Amino acid sequence: MNVTNLKIREIRDLLDKKSFSSVELTQAYLDRIKKIDGELQSYITITEDLALNSAKNAQNKIDNGNSSPLCGIPISIKDNICTDGIKTTCGSKSLENFVPPYNATIIDKLNSQGMVMLGKANLDEFAIGSTTQNIFAKTKNPYDFSKVPGGSSGGCAASVSASLCAGSIGSDTGGSLRQPASLCGVTGLRPTYGSVSRYGLVAFASSLDQIGTIAKDAHDCAFLLNSIVGHDDNDATSLKAKTIDFASKIGESIKGMKIAVPKEFYDENNGINPEVKDTVLNAAEKYKEMGAELIECSLPSLKYAVSTYLILSSAEAASNLSRIDGIKYGHRSTKGETFGDIVRNSRTEGFGDEVKRRILLGNFVLSSEQYNDYYERALALRQRFIADYAEIFEKCDVILTPTTLSTATGISENIMTPSNIYLDNICTVTVDIASLPAISTPCGYDSNGMPIGMSIIGKKFDEATIIQLADAFEKSFDAISPKLI
Ligand code: GLN
Repeated sequence: MNVTNLKIREIRDLLDKKSFSSVELTQAYLDRIKKIDGELQSYITITEDLALNSAKNAQNKIDNGNSSPLCGIPISIKDNICTDGIKTTCGSKSLENFVPPYNATIIDKLNSQGMVMLGKANLDEFAIGSTTQNIFAKTKNPYDFSKVPGGSSGGCAASVSASLCAGSIGSDTGGSLRQPASLCGVTGLRPTYGSVSRYGLVAFASSLDQIGTIAKDAHDCAFLLNSIVGHDDNDATSLKAKTIDFASKIGESIKGMKIAVPKEFYDENNGINPEVKDTVLNAAEKYKEMGAELIECSLPSLKYAVSTYLILSSAEAASNLSRIDGIKYGHRSTKGETFGDIVRNSRTEGFGDEVKRRILLGNFVLSSEQYNDYYERALALRQRFIADYAEIFEKCDVILTPTTLSTATGISENIMTPSNIYLDNICTVTVDIASLPAISTPCGYDSNGMPIGMSIIGKKFDEATIIQLADAFEKSFDAISPKLI
């Protein structure tokens, strides 16, 4: 049995039956990481000793009958989630040597259950971007090493897709769980804003940031999410909502369910690749065969999605990243005589181009001359998205869209300008703007064998339904694993 290919639920069952130990399982993942990850580069830090130690402790718990859902399960954690005593670089030179003195709330939660952390997964610098290429590591797509894995949780998605962990925890501000999951042929789940504590997640855009899960299927995503949700006094935006079992509707019939198909997402004028469009629409037909009803509808505000997202997220990023000044946090330049010079040089040396672009944009839209024309209008548009979605949800249970406009692009293809890359976020960002939950799951492959993903968007707090639908599709779909060793 190749243990690294197993789903989390299967591992749980076999660990509890003592078919293998958590130490053996962890070693199998570490061996595979050694074989593959030198080239794949899904991890930025591998915590081998810690992992084996945690596995030993977890095995003791299992042997003593104190097992819990994630006890002894090896996972990867995005490197913008603070881990006490372990480097948390955010993929940035500015935090190259940052070792947090505390754990994010979710890390404490996972540790108390006996989770085994294999390492920190690579990402776009400060989770800003869509390709997971930074100065430390350039992550490849497991289906084709010449292509990007997507981002910003590209290390999470690639490590799951290449079976270098059982599941992964990442973050999503404008699509960063769903887009890389889609490009790497795995499942990514962004829950309702506020359902998972953001305490210890290095902030990109606080009104949009949300921690979520990536795994081999929707049921595993739900399984992982069950272990990290819940209110946290340390996060002012954390919800007090009652926690549900996210897997509770799995297996229920989807007969009669109303699935909205908003036409703008499938409009070739918005740049969707015809192969992606046809594949997602075929998946919609499959739901129809299962008894669901497809409802054509419209989200006319979609044309404002990318601008609204960029204005809001960049404004918040400019403010959040101001603390990385070489004085309070981050790389400090050795050049400069005055306080101002040292801050300027530290930030110039510490940040990459994309982060600088967003900081400039953010400060521009927040400046007193531009505030009304940009930031205030983006805030108003945010309300419009919330209202437009509410209207669709009056008549439908969920919404089905593509996750991306095209499949993964080549790492060295230089055809993507920043504005092209921004436009590519059109399918995912409205979910974040409207604080909704959404899941991306594989629904086909293009003519080059690269994965295509579809997204199911749910009503607030209705993760259970989107997970149920994703699971129903997955059960009828022949997924193709990447051809690695
Ligand atoms: N790709 C998007 C961006 O560049 C989203 C990133 C994210 O969700 N963290 O901003």
